[in-house]
Amino acid sequence: MNLLILGPQGAGKGTQAVLLASRLGIPHISTGDIFRSNLKVGTKLGKKAQKYMDVGELVPDSITREMVAERLTEADAQRGFLLDGFPRTMVQATWLKDELANTHRILDRVLLLTAPDEQLVSRMLARGRSDDTPEAISRRLDIYRANTQPLLDFYGDLVSVVDGVGAIDEVQHRLLSQLGPV
Ligand code: AMP
Repeated sequence: MNLLILGPQGAGKGTQAVLLASRLGIPHISTGDIFRSNLKVGTKLGKKAQKYMDVGELVPDSITREMVAERLTEADAQRGFLLDGFPRTMVQATWLKDELANTHRILDRVLLLTAPDEQLVSRMLARGRSDDTPEAISRRLDIYRANTQPLLDFYGDLVSVVDGVGAIDEVQHRLLSQLGPV
């Protein structure tokens, strides 16, 4: 199954995505995680991405796309994937559509995890990541609204909206129930 999970940071997307991917036996591909692991070991890619990540800006597409394209060609991604944190813009979404078409794949479903703003901000402050300063948080929410919401129109009927408020198991159950028998 080829899936996307969308939603603002702080909606519990990362936690839910890891659980869901393992349940479905498909790789969880998070662009934020890939950037962070590159940063940690000091790769060229990590160094290029750092200045954008530090201030909550999007890393340029030229860098991000190549990374996603490579990851999607790996063997484990041939049986399906759960993309998390990509696409974040219409440009990325149209690129992904072409990239998947070129490799004879389509998206099966787009999951949108939602939560009220107060909860998003307090969850982000609580996890204490180095890029979770109040300024970077508010910048990321602005960017999310401006860039990511139009993706919902683009994906149309493929989108399932899931309430992210509640216990981890409860939310996971809601996500799974959108996928039908798996
Ligand atoms: P995340 O873990 O998804 O919150 O991502 C952390 C940071 O990585 C973001 O604030 C961006 O700087 C960068 N990033 C992650 N995914 C993307 C993407 N699809 N396009 C551009 N930048 C991204």
